[in-house]
Amino acid sequence: MPTYNRADLAFERGEGAWLWTTDGRRMLDFGSGIATTSIGHAHPHLVKTVAEQAARVMHVSNLYRVPQAEKLAARLVESSFADSVFFCNSGAEANEGMMKAVRKYHAENGHPERFRFVCFEGAFHGRTLATLAATGNAKYLEGFGPPVEGFDHVPFGNMNAVRDAIGPNTAAIMIEPIQGEGGVRPADLRFLRELRAVCDEYGILLALDEVQTGMGRSGKLWAHQWAGIEPDVMSSAKGIGGGFPLGAILAKEKVAQYLKPGTHGTTYGGNPLACSAGNAVLDIILAPGFLDQVDRVARYLWQGMGALAARHPEVASGVRGAGLLIGLQLTPAVTNSAFQAAAVDEGLLTVAAGQNVLRVAPSLIITEAEVDAALAMLDRAAAKLTPVKAAAQ
Ligand SMILES: *Cc1c(COP(=O)(O)O)cnc(C)c1O
Repeated sequence: MPTYNRADLAFERGEGAWLWTTDGRRMLDFGSGIATTSIGHAHPHLVKTVAEQAARVMHVSNLYRVPQAEKLAARLVESSFADSVFFCNSGAEANEGMMKAVRKYHAENGHPERFRFVCFEGAFHGRTLATLAATGNAKYLEGFGPPVEGFDHVPFGNMNAVRDAIGPNTAAIMIEPIQGEGGVRPADLRFLRELRAVCDEYGILLALDEVQTGMGRSGKLWAHQWAGIEPDVMSSAKGIGGGFPLGAILAKEKVAQYLKPGTHGTTYGGNPLACSAGNAVLDIILAPGFLDQVDRVARYLWQGMGALAARHPEVASGVRGAGLLIGLQLTPAVTNSAFQAAAVDEGLLTVAAGQNVLRVAPSLIITEAEVDAALAMLDRAAAKLTPVKAAAQ
């Protein structure tokens, strides 16, 4: 179906941060398939694990125990706030399940009227009907009938608006610690702490969408750890499978206890193949020193992006984000799609985001030398775009 505006590029193989097109060009991948190939392309450990699992057994359904899923869940619990995990296949599906978990929690506690979510302008939570309503973007909702009921949007970062939006029907606050699609906008760490406090004050839940920010992307395993807070429930996807489709809901026992047999489910979710991929990714990300290196290289990239913006004030006005999720704010003179295309011409893949931001989200195994190479390509792309603007005047 004609759902995508695809670039005329096709890839036949990848290695680490690099991809080769079918016509033989080598490209540096600073998009990671939208922040998803967390340990790079064709990582030998991931490839071997998935290949061996595929040869043994891929799928059995959740009618049976799945040792790979039990192992992955135990490791996620060990390295997070959560007491238990539900596996699914995508970010939207994780968010749907997270919303169901929140509503069930209040219903079981005698408050079925608490079903509404306070969400944020500029959010992105997925493309299914409920996650679209949580996203709240009028453009995405148009033509798909009445939005699913129960989502109230307030300006990102505005605590007064959050307080005003909380009422007797509020079940939870749902937020991305860093808005990804919406333009790589990080929430203030103090704002996240205040959200935690206001949830405790009103007896509502804090539901974090860490689909894009989790699994090490911020330089810590979970982005909320920078704020020193814990959510009650959280979604994860994208980087968790390193490119293999996998999503997860992580929850405290007080929430998870109510998702009894029959309340929620999936056929594929958490199958042996997907969870073997998840375990292989965790083997790499949780290895001693790995996240320290992500943090180091992320700071290096941040500095370089700042210098780039300063060198090209007519093209870029600033840098925002955290870890290896960084946005280059472009000036009105240049669209992010034009910049993205110019970067492709230089051999660099990036991703556009909202508010005319160019998003870079390389795999977490990126080296400083590769950052230098990417910055040089961005620099040439910016230089090329500058005279375009001059000529247009
Ligand atoms: C990508 C994304 C989603 C949706 O994930 P899908 O796997 O595309 O369904 C939800 N939330 C956030 C924050 C995302 O970045």
